Amino acid sequence: MTQAPDDAARRRAVPPVICYPNDTLPQPDLALYQRARATAQKLAQVLVSPRQAGCFRVRAGQVFRISCPEGSQVGDLNLWNADDLSERFFSGKSRALHGSHLGVGDRMWSSFPALRPMATIIADSLGWYGADEFGGRVHDVIGTRCDPYTHRLLSGGEYHHCCHSNLTRALAAETGLTLEQAEGHVHDVLNVFMCTGFTRDTGQYFMKASPARAGDFIEFFAEIDLLGALSACPGGDCGAEHSSDAAQCHPLLVEVFQPAEGALDGWVSPPPNGYSRSHGA
Ligand SMILES: [Zn+2]
Repeated sequence: MTQAPDDAARRRAVPPVICYPNDTLPQPDLALYQRARATAQKLAQVLVSPRQAGCFRVRAGQVFRISCPEGSQVGDLNLWNADDLSERFFSGKSRALHGSHLGVGDRMWSSFPALRPMATIIADSLGWYGADEFGGRVHDVIGTRCDPYTHRLLSGGEYHHCCHSNLTRALAAETGLTLEQAEGHVHDVLNVFMCTGFTRDTGQYFMKASPARAGDFIEFFAEIDLLGALSACPGGDCGAEHSSDAAQCHPLLVEVFQPAEGALDGWVSPPPNGYSRSHGA
């Protein structure tokens, strides 16, 4: 331990400042999206088996819903620009802009240089959860995804159905990329239905059993054409452990909906970020 300076209390008492105040962040027209959703017809669905991942495609202006059809299950979600896999979900910046957990009205932002909304959350049946007494919340952008490398580091063993590997296999199967190529496109996730936080005393990342039950869902409005991949985490509800075959796991359902003709009049898919990219050179 280092010696605290004489003015330690005064330094600690400095109030925090929000890094990215949302008053200058462009806000979605949530009411328009929700009205459009009310007109939408189902187009397609993908059922993701436990300890596997599945890919799905959503056009700009369509809605996709992720649900737990049979029981509590955490999902690890990746999104890419359907026409350019180098533009992908930017978990870290989404966290900086919206906070550690996402809810209705929050966006999934894409990587540099595009940095634009890929999807906007328009409904969440777990919106009631808020924060629990441990500081736990749902749908985090802090956990990166369970993966076989960290598993090997911590346990020494091999496990092939971590979300990272599930996403890699699914993306390879969908695109025809090799496993090695596909793996490079897999990125930090939105942890759908997962309940997580940081312990107050040690600041460690924690998880606890998801409050999701059969029928719970979250819905997203696609801002650009998307390729998505969703892994049904081997941790099941993530109440005990992940990266093993011990937890009870359930499938996840992805459904895609098309709003009625004219329901999105006035809406335009967001262009890539307008920064010049000169970087001052
Ligand atoms: Zn996982």
